[in-house]
Amino acid sequence: MKKSWKLLSAMMIVMLLILAGCGNDSNNAGSNASAGESGSDGVATIKERGKLLVGVKYDTKLFGLKDPSSGNVEGFDIDISKAIAKHILGDENAIELKEVTSKTRIPMLNNGEIDMVVATMTITEERKKEVDFSDVYFQAGQSLLVKKGSPIKGIDDITKDSTVLGSKGSTSVKNIKEKVPGVTVLEFDNYQDAFNALKTGKGDALTTDDAILYGMAAQDPNYEVVGEPFTDEPYGIAVQKGNSAVVKAINDTLAELKSSGEYDKIYEKWIGKAPAK
Ligand code: GLU
Repeated sequence: MKKSWKLLSAMMIVMLLILAGCGNDSNNAGSNASAGESGSDGVATIKERGKLLVGVKYDTKLFGLKDPSSGNVEGFDIDISKAIAKHILGDENAIELKEVTSKTRIPMLNNGEIDMVVATMTITEERKKEVDFSDVYFQAGQSLLVKKGSPIKGIDDITKDSTVLGSKGSTSVKNIKEKVPGVTVLEFDNYQDAFNALKTGKGDALTTDDAILYGMAAQDPNYEVVGEPFTDEPYGIAVQKGNSAVVKAINDTLAELKSSGEYDKIYEKWIGKAPAK
């Protein structure tokens, strides 16, 4: 009788130890589940999930545009995102795209809804306080889109009496207010709404990066990009602060794309010319 009690208690201790071990494992899995926690190895998190979560634009022709009939999202930023998925997970389709706007992209990244933002995002000192950036992967500059025949031919024609349209949370809105103090700027939730506002005569010009404006002009030939770009907008891929493993994986991907010639192919496919060297 005494012997079987001892055996039973020894078995119970062993079982408790096993259960305690299992508990730890599931806790670890749980804490790794959120996208790109700072401090942890974000690449390991992505590999464990088996899928890269990327914030892209859905309304920006040439960079990230959703085709309403097929549901496909296509553009320069999408091709770069697929190359990163291939680099990290060995499969360019191991990816889930989520729509971001200029205003929602940093909050969505820092909430853990996405691993990275690949969405026409300029690297700025102000944004670097909130996120980390990859190397520059595209060089744009701010410009103006107007209806053909408009008296506005460039930034010098924008005065404090002009009404300019832009997207909330973009550098473009901040820059134009600095360039032309007193100018009226109407801010929209996304670029599609801003473009619709231009078409319905709510403003004299729409301002954002030239590359985005060329996409809009291609959508409607009644509109044209005027003047020279008046700012530098170097695009970077944003990740949560401190996520150096993911920044390295992105920079390695960009370097590979450039050395293999694939970057130039993607650039020409969407922008229609070779990148400036
Ligand atoms: N590149 C500028 C920015 O990051 C304008 C384009 C955009 O709004 O995404 O703010």
